[in-house]
Amino acid sequence: MAFSLSPSYAYFSPHLIPKTNKSRYSFVIAASSTTNAPLPGRKLRAAVIGGGPAGSSAAEALAAGGVETFLFERSPSTAKPCGGAIPLCMLEEFSIPLHLIDRHVTKMKIISPSNLTVDFGAKTLKSHESIPMLRREVLDSFLRSRAQSRGANLIHALVTAVDLPASSSAPYIIHHTINNSRHTLTVDVVIGADGAHSRVAKSIKAGDYACAIAFQERIKLPDDKMEYYKDLAEMYVGNDVSPDFYAWVFPKCDHVAVGTGTVRSKKDIKQYQRGIRERAKHKINGGKVIKVEAHPIPEHPRAVRVQGRVALIGDAAGYVTKCSGEGIYFAAKSGRICGEGIVKASEGGRRMVSEGDLRREYLRKWDDEYLNTYRFLDLLQKVFYGSNWGREALVELCGDEYVQRMTFDSYLYKKLAEGNRFEDVKMVLKSVSSLVRCKIVGNEMEALKL
Ligand SMILES: Cc1cc2nc3c(=O)[nH]c(=O)nc-3n(C[C@H](O)[C@H](O)[C@H](O)COP(=O)(O)OP(=O)(O)OC[C@H]3O[C@@H](n4cnc5c(N)ncnc54)[C@H](O)[C@@H]3O)c2cc1C
Repeated sequence: MAFSLSPSYAYFSPHLIPKTNKSRYSFVIAASSTTNAPLPGRKLRAAVIGGGPAGSSAAEALAAGGVETFLFERSPSTAKPCGGAIPLCMLEEFSIPLHLIDRHVTKMKIISPSNLTVDFGAKTLKSHESIPMLRREVLDSFLRSRAQSRGANLIHALVTAVDLPASSSAPYIIHHTINNSRHTLTVDVVIGADGAHSRVAKSIKAGDYACAIAFQERIKLPDDKMEYYKDLAEMYVGNDVSPDFYAWVFPKCDHVAVGTGTVRSKKDIKQYQRGIRERAKHKINGGKVIKVEAHPIPEHPRAVRVQGRVALIGDAAGYVTKCSGEGIYFAAKSGRICGEGIVKASEGGRRMVSEGDLRREYLRKWDDEYLNTYRFLDLLQKVFYGSNWGREALVELCGDEYVQRMTFDSYLYKKLAEGNRFEDVKMVLKSVSSLVRCKIVGNEMEALKL
C-alpha cells in the first residue's frame, strides 16, 4: 500500500495549510547545546537497531559522517510484507538504481462501493512519470550494503534488550544474540529502527500507538491476466473490503499483491480479504497464491520519539501516513534526518550528543516538515474512508483532473503542491457537494432497502 488516491494532497497548497512548529507529539525543544564533551581518542558510537529502509538510511548517514556505527538486523534474507510502491523522488533522493525496480506503474484505477471506476493517472501522469514498485528484499539489501560500504558494521543479530545508562554520559548496553549465543555492545547513542513491534520503543517506555493490520496474498496469475496488471494498480473502497481503509491489487515482479487493511475491525480481516478477492475475481481467477502475509501498520506518530540519547525512526516512530499507508519513503527520510542530525551535533563523531541535540536536529526538523501531512491525511481518512457515501464521493472527486495532478505532484515529489487558488476553492466546493450528494443518495438507497 502506498499511493493515496484521495483529493488529499491537492489540499496541501501552502496557502491553505498553516505551518506550525508546535507538535502535539514532541516535547519542548531544548536549546542548542554547544558544550558537549569531546571524546578524546575515539569516535561517537551509535547502534542502529533494524536494517529496513529507516535503519539503513540512518546507518549510512552516521557512518559517512564519521560516527562509529553498528547496524543490527535479525534476518537480512527475509522480506518485509509490503506493497513496495515508492514515490518517484525517492529514486533520485536516495540514489536508487533503476535496475532495482520491477514495475513502473503508469495507470491506476480506483473503484467505488458501487463499482464506479475512475482512471487515475493515464491522462495526468507526464511521460517520464510513474510509480516505481520494487521488492523489499531487493531494496533493503541494497540499502544495507550501501550503509556497509560507507563504513557501517552490519551485525546479523537479534537485539533482545537495551540497558539504559545511569548518567548522561554513561553508555547504553545492547544485548543481542548471534546464532543463539549472547553478546553485548556498549554505545553512546541508540536509534530504534526496529519497526512496528519496536523493542527499543519498549525499553524507553515510549508508549503504544494504535495499529492497523494489513493482510496480503501474493498471487501468481496466468500470463494474460498478469499482462493486464503489468503497469496498473487498483484500489477498491467499500464496506465489503475494509471499514476504514482501502484494498489493493498491486503488480509485483511476476505476480500481484492482493490485500487490505483495517484498524477498526482487525478480527474481520480475513472477511475483508475475501471481499477484495470477490471484487477482483474476474481479473485474478486462475491465480495461485504463493505467499500469505500480515503485518501491523502504525496509525500515528508515538507520543515519545526521543528519550535520553535514544531516537525512534520509521515505523518504530509511527511514520506511516493515513489514507495511503505509505511508509518506505518516510522511514528512509527519518533515518537520514536523524543520522545527519547526530553527525552535525557530534561534529563528525568527535563529541558526545545529548537529548536536546536529538530533539533539535531530528525531531524538530521532522515535525516542521511532515507533521501537518500526517494530521491532514488523518482528517481525510476520517471524512472519505468512514462510510460508503464518503467513498463514493472520494471516487467521484478522483475523476477531477486538477485533483489528480495535485495528488501526483505531492505524492511523487513529496513537496507541497503549489495550487491554484481559484481551482482550490472550486475543489473544496466540489468536495462538499459530492459528500452531500452521495450522502443523500446513500440515505435514499438505505430507505429503499427498508
Ligand atoms: C502489507 C503492507 C503493505 C505496505 N505497502 C507499502 C507500500 O507499498 N509503500 C510504502 O511506502 N509503504 C508500505 N507499507 C509500509 C512500509 O512497509 C513500512 O512503513 C516500512 O517498512 C517501514 O520501514 P522501517 O525501516 O521503519 O521498518 P521495517 O521495514 O519494519 O524494518 C524493521 C527492521 O528491523 C528488524 N528488526 C526488528 N526487530 C529487531 C531486533 N530486535 N533485532 C534486530 N533486528 C530487528 C526487522 O527484521 C526489519 O528488517 C506497507 C506495509 C504493509 C504491512
